[in-house]
Amino acid sequence: MMKTDVVVIGAGAVGCAIARELSKYQIQVMVVDKNEDVGGDASKSNSAIIHTGYDASPGTLESELVVAANPMYPELVKELDVPFKQTGAILPAITQEQFEQLPAIKAKAFKNRVYDIEYLTKEQIIAMEPNINPEVRGGLHIPRESIIDPFILVQALAENANENGVDFLLNTKVTGIQTENQKIKAVETTAGVIETRYVINAAALYCDEIAGMVGKAGYKVVARRGQFYILDKNTSCKVNHIVLPIPTKITKGKLMCPTIHGNMLVGPTAEDLDNKTDKSVTADGLESIVKDVQRLIPNVDIRDTITQYSGLRPNRNPEGLHVDMYDDLEGYVNLSGVRSTGLTLSVSMGVYVAQLLKEHGCGLVYKENFKKTRKGIRIFHEMTACEQEEIIKENPKYGNIICRCETITEGEILDAIHRPLGARSMDAVKRRVRAGMGRCQGGFCGPKVIEILSKELNIPVEEVNKNVSGSYMVSGKMR
Ligand SMILES: Cc1cc2nc3c(=O)[nH]c(=O)nc-3n(C[C@H](O)[C@H](O)[C@H](O)COP(=O)(O)OP(=O)(O)OC[C@H]3O[C@@H](n4cnc5c(N)ncnc54)[C@H](O)[C@@H]3O)c2cc1C
Repeated sequence: MMKTDVVVIGAGAVGCAIARELSKYQIQVMVVDKNEDVGGDASKSNSAIIHTGYDASPGTLESELVVAANPMYPELVKELDVPFKQTGAILPAITQEQFEQLPAIKAKAFKNRVYDIEYLTKEQIIAMEPNINPEVRGGLHIPRESIIDPFILVQALAENANENGVDFLLNTKVTGIQTENQKIKAVETTAGVIETRYVINAAALYCDEIAGMVGKAGYKVVARRGQFYILDKNTSCKVNHIVLPIPTKITKGKLMCPTIHGNMLVGPTAEDLDNKTDKSVTADGLESIVKDVQRLIPNVDIRDTITQYSGLRPNRNPEGLHVDMYDDLEGYVNLSGVRSTGLTLSVSMGVYVAQLLKEHGCGLVYKENFKKTRKGIRIFHEMTACEQEEIIKENPKYGNIICRCETITEGEILDAIHRPLGARSMDAVKRRVRAGMGRCQGGFCGPKVIEILSKELNIPVEEVNKNVSGSYMVSGKMR
């Protein structure tokens, strides 16, 4: 039987941030996830915005955690080598009705203690965003709204946690939780039983099912789907900021913003589904994005789309973000309702959960040798010509370009595979080094990446997965 002090269920942003925080202490932590890779589900299909919390519901735990998280990023991304940029957000008011809403939005931001939000005149907005609808009447500027690489953020948290002693059990589903005398005793998984004193439920969309295993599911989670377009880096109509619509009572609405790698992101929709697995994109959903975003950016060129995707928000019913511990079940921490701001608040959630454990008697003694930094994969196309020459001399694999669209070398792909918690599938390579993220979406580099994975993992090409186990891409030889 495996044994640990804490089992974190879920290797998404939230689970990995909690694990990284706990790795600062002398306590054994194991993260269990049913997926083949760290990175979660919602955590890899979102808008990738680090929010300020200006529009959260004042006085809620969500507001507290998002507002606390935002200022943590500039330092954290340096420590963990994560691509991040404070672009700022603009809320343009196009109609008179929207214009009249601006003071209320500003007042709400103040209630959330986001004070650096400023009015913008029509002229200022047009100077900042030349592609904005010329009918704009004015708006708001929220300078600390930021963009991040969400894949690298979670990988970095996981790798750093792993370097500090956290074990990751991937491809492993939690199927039950054993208790004894109103205390956590063990977690049952598809890889065996893990004896543990603490369980942290960070299973997001499935947190109600995990809570049901210990009789604590007093809520339901439904999927709220968000569909997106990604536009080519060379699209003619771009924005420099996160351009957000004035929210309505029902939705925050559809936005356009740059991604950290220079594409344009357009979306998302907000559709409640009756199943938790439908990650398709639909004609209706996509059309609604174009219609809505054209009100903000009339010349957005959707023909420059290179891909579309959707993500599922774990929508709690009744609503609200909750972190619960129970008098009648020692050692169980239940997270629920981590919905639209979970990427941002993952890092403050880590600190919050660690504090909660301390308050509930979990002796957390600081590790003298905690290593707080992590170095990312060296990116060839960001190096100077001299650095490129040097690295090719050291390792000629950096001279072999595999992904032409994004200029990704074999050396980077090998690093992605061989580093701790390395890539085991084509999508895992893509999320680490962007091979296949460009205009041709892997049409050119896909077969080469399959060959490299096959060689490095020492498996036949027929057994290389796209993502989940069994998602093979090669079925045999034609001739
Ligand atoms: C369309 C959309 C846009 C968004 N935009 C933003 C944004 O711009 N900024 C922001 O801050 N947030 C945003 N979010 C929210 C954010 O993405 C999520 O709140 C966050 O990623 C949640 O992280 P998580 O770790 O809780 O969940 P996930 O990333 O979903 O991870 C949960 C993990 O639990 C695992 N799991 C579940 N059940 C089991 C089981 N039985 N056994 C083992 N493992 C299990 C899953 O495999 C998964 O890996 C958006 C979300 C969506 C969908």
